[in-house]
Amino acid sequence: MSTTLVQNAAVLDPIAGEVVPDQSVLAVDGQIKEVGSTREVSASNTDRVIDVHGQTVMPGLVDGHVHVYFQSLDLPLLQSWLPSYLVPKAVRSLEDMLQRGFTTVRDTGGADFAIAQAVEDGIINGPRVIYGGTALSQTGGHGDGRQRGDSSHNDCCRCPNIARIADGPDEVRVAARDVLRTGAHHLKLMLSGGVSSPTDSISSVQYSDEEISVAVREATAAGRYVTGHAYLASAITNALDLGLRCIEHGNLIDDTTIRKFVEKDAYLVPTLVTYQAMDEIGMQIGMTAGSHAKNSEVLDAGLSALEAAYRGGVNLVYGSDLIGEMQVRQLDEFAIRSEVQPAIEVIRAATTTAARLLGLEGRIGVVEPGAYADLIVVDGDPIQNIDVLTHPERHLSLVMKNGAVYRDRL
Ligand code: ZN
Ligand code: ZN
Repeated sequence: MSTTLVQNAAVLDPIAGEVVPDQSVLAVDGQIKEVGSTREVSASNTDRVIDVHGQTVMPGLVDGHVHVYFQSLDLPLLQSWLPSYLVPKAVRSLEDMLQRGFTTVRDTGGADFAIAQAVEDGIINGPRVIYGGTALSQTGGHGDGRQRGDSSHNDCCRCPNIARIADGPDEVRVAARDVLRTGAHHLKLMLSGGVSSPTDSISSVQYSDEEISVAVREATAAGRYVTGHAYLASAITNALDLGLRCIEHGNLIDDTTIRKFVEKDAYLVPTLVTYQAMDEIGMQIGMTAGSHAKNSEVLDAGLSALEAAYRGGVNLVYGSDLIGEMQVRQLDEFAIRSEVQPAIEVIRAATTTAARLLGLEGRIGVVEPGAYADLIVVDGDPIQNIDVLTHPERHLSLVMKNGAVYRDRL
């Protein structure tokens, strides 16, 4: 048995939206056993005592939209890499995420059971990886990375692809079952056009009702859910009616869509920082001019969509969706969202609401008995000043995951 006591802590409770001073947190074998005033929680017989000197202890952060294997915006370059180059890059990016305070990430296209297992086994220092395997896309959809003149079939079984092509209910059924058999936590469908895909337009609607329904049926039968990449209001409203539990991005939603999210108790994962980053530096790191132009179609709408969704009561989850070199901006989504939401709401998006989406309520996103000992320590109160989270080099003192310490600057 391994026990760690974190003492003299101000514990941030995302549910209550408050910071409680003079607390101690006892972790036993990677789980939180006790939280209470420093006088009540005993320090005897602990293997390690960490005194945080009154700094804020909060749950480890959750990024609800990452791509562990999407390590370059330059698609031909990405496709030229072997796994022996790509995987170490992915490992480095997971290590960096953990050093920013993310202890759980949800991969929405690409990551497989093997990289999640490598983290779980302790071979890689990274956040817990909740994966959905390869996303499903129709031919010519957002997951079809081929240029117009390329009609090859990419069946490269050793290449970790972000998405796979499946057309028609039968192919979608096979693809869905194939992804689910790898233990995927969710299925991801490409439901409307995207920025990085070479041959679709933002306004294109992808997948038929029949195809979407087949995916929903397969996921539900396996005890999983379906999430969809989509910007268009009509595509999103339709998908929610067909049983999707979650939507990624949602930049072009309207009031009808927002009411539908609330009616269905569905989740939205905006990813505003990636559009800002692609706008600013995308062209320097391999983005095509065509993609850059598509990016401007969704960039400006994103923040007002988030504000409307927040005011409408939609379940919002933190997401970054940053590709390759842009991943250094992973925490900037906190600052962007704080322009239209109180800081505590953005913190909930990266803790308690994310935990509900992931089916890990009470296990992640809270500092409570029964949760994994996933904690970060920051020198300040992020509810009062979100900068405390966005500048880890200055403010992030400690990162603990499953009771193990991965960063200690106390
Ligand atoms: Zn997407
Ligand atoms: Zn994405």
